[in-house]
Amino acid sequence: MEETRNTRRKFHTDIECVPEGHANGKATNANQDKKIIIKNAADAFGRFLDALGCNWRDDPNSMETPTRVAKAYVNDLWKGRFENLPDITSFPSDGYDGIVIERNIPITSMCSHHHQTISGVVHVGYIVGEGGHVIGLSKLNRIVEHFGRRGAIQEQLTSAIHQATDKVCENNMGVIVTVVATHNCVSCRGVKHRGASMVTTKASGVFRDNGNDARKEYFDSIKINNGGHQI
Ligand SMILES: [Zn+2]
Repeated sequence: MEETRNTRRKFHTDIECVPEGHANGKATNANQDKKIIIKNAADAFGRFLDALGCNWRDDPNSMETPTRVAKAYVNDLWKGRFENLPDITSFPSDGYDGIVIERNIPITSMCSHHHQTISGVVHVGYIVGEGGHVIGLSKLNRIVEHFGRRGAIQEQLTSAIHQATDKVCENNMGVIVTVVATHNCVSCRGVKHRGASMVTTKASGVFRDNGNDARKEYFDSIKINNGGHQI
């Protein structure tokens, strides 16, 4: 028993669910020097601006823009494509068998269809099974950051966060993930509607049953003090 109590386990591989190279997967050149990736991307973005008739080389506000955009993709917007998920340590739950919920995890992502930002919040809940493990709360934030910082469609992003949480929270009885987000591609282009939010939920285990108390407790909980983010 003592040996089990002191067990810490790390999970950081085998959590990808789309092929390498897809906008929402690992980059094919993730092992390459980031300075080279940024240089190549900046060169290509300069040609993109050329095609749009922009004399960016002569414009003081635009002459560094290709490099700025390339850095933004590699270091921030698509960061999760170039890095591995940090090691996640799980701990014995020490008899706790209730629901664990983290609400209002901020997310910034990018729509892989239009390369416009997606922003909102993520709620994650899970229930520890018998002999199961819990993880440090901030690790749920790390999972959200890792998959959010990529190209995405919200449906698959929800599934990716769910799958990673399901794997690291070993022996869980259920995991549920809700993403509430607004999409700039809806508000700035096309239909140009501001304020419309998209809600996606992926549930497994006990959370799949509509009549289940855990599912009700989760949805009741994320409605309370939710920082104005409605669901
Ligand atoms: Zn879009």
